[in-house]
Amino acid sequence: MRYHTFLIKYGEIGIKGKNRYLFEDALVRQVRFALKDVDGQFEVYKSQARIYVDCEGDYDYEDTIEHLKRVFGIVGICPVVRMEDAGFEQLKKDIVAYMDEAYPDKRLTFKVEARRARKSYPLTSMEINCALGEAILDAFPETKVDVHHPDVMLNVEVRNEIYVYSRIIKGAGGMPVGTNGKAMLLLSGGIDSPVAGYMISKRGVGIEATYFHAPPYTSERAKQKVVDLARIVSRYAGPIKLHVVNFTDIQLYIYDQCPHEELTIIMRRYMMRIAEYFAKKDGCLGLITGESIGQVASQTMQSLAATNDVCTMPVYRPVIGFDKQEIVNIAERIGTYETSIQPFEDCCTIFVAKHPVTKPNVEVIRRSEEHLSEKIDELMKTALETAEMIEVK
Ligand code: ATP
Ligand code: MG
Repeated sequence: MRYHTFLIKYGEIGIKGKNRYLFEDALVRQVRFALKDVDGQFEVYKSQARIYVDCEGDYDYEDTIEHLKRVFGIVGICPVVRMEDAGFEQLKKDIVAYMDEAYPDKRLTFKVEARRARKSYPLTSMEINCALGEAILDAFPETKVDVHHPDVMLNVEVRNEIYVYSRIIKGAGGMPVGTNGKAMLLLSGGIDSPVAGYMISKRGVGIEATYFHAPPYTSERAKQKVVDLARIVSRYAGPIKLHVVNFTDIQLYIYDQCPHEELTIIMRRYMMRIAEYFAKKDGCLGLITGESIGQVASQTMQSLAATNDVCTMPVYRPVIGFDKQEIVNIAERIGTYETSIQPFEDCCTIFVAKHPVTKPNVEVIRRSEEHLSEKIDELMKTALETAEMIEVK
């Protein structure tokens, strides 16, 4: 079957009233962005509370669907056959031909659901339903009408042309990116943080990211892995501005000055401070991490409290209550897993203590940080000034 258009269905919740056009405009923008790399010419537009993608000429159907499935805010994707309006008798023939091609096995129940966007059409919706239903029953006596739970809901939309569709492909759900501000993701090369970015982005939030590396302890290849992960997340979240911070001197200084069992916590506090600096500078409204309660020593309730202590912005931790396997499942589904498990060193693991504190006391940690007072401001300044910025698309 050749489809000429996709009708994009989106959720109604939260988009009623005055904000609706913002939601729709953002969705149109995101659909255009998603189809940029797909073979074919597409026209994306909204019309009468619906969004359509017209496909001009040849295009790659499977790839188009694959890309549309990544757009947050889309609940369903309906492939549409457009029929020229050449009178109702012709429409009956075209509809029968559509059913014949779309459903080789005719032992099915159906319902015709007509909708007139063009009110001047000579038949009412009800008349269209009855007449087309009859034509199908006549052509295929094995079929039956079921108005309550049909196998096939045959939608017939009268516009300038007649739009016919009966399949709905499930979309990603969520809200279109750009309808809910922007947040800063602390993106490591692990499994959890890309998933965390995906989940917050799903609610309509644009993403920026900060990655801390520690050359020469961490390699160029480890950094490339993070860029690769950002690129995969950007398939869903849109373009991501990635800040790459050289964290080596700060880590070494903490290592020199502070108790080794507090190293990770203090390091993580500096990560949050730096990420928050870039977040504020770029108008982000929160931070995102891939933390999950109890996963490691630095993610116990006490450790999370100690890390959170330095943040003035809300910190979103969407995988906080997930087990590792649940996070892995999402990572596999969104396509980050294979990249995340590539074995490259991480800046946190290099300086890790044998027996890290699992129940840090915030007051104690603050006092340990006082040992850094001589040089830390200068080191922070250098880290912020020398950060590299990569536009990931
Ligand atoms: P992950 O591997 O998510 O992606 P993890 O299980 O390795 O998580 P930690 O290393 O304790 O956990 O890090 C917790 C969170 O801190 C990460 O999810 C991420 O948001 C942030 N983080 C850790 N290391 C880095 C880093 N090198 N650069 C940026 N963010 C980091
Ligand atoms: Mg990690």
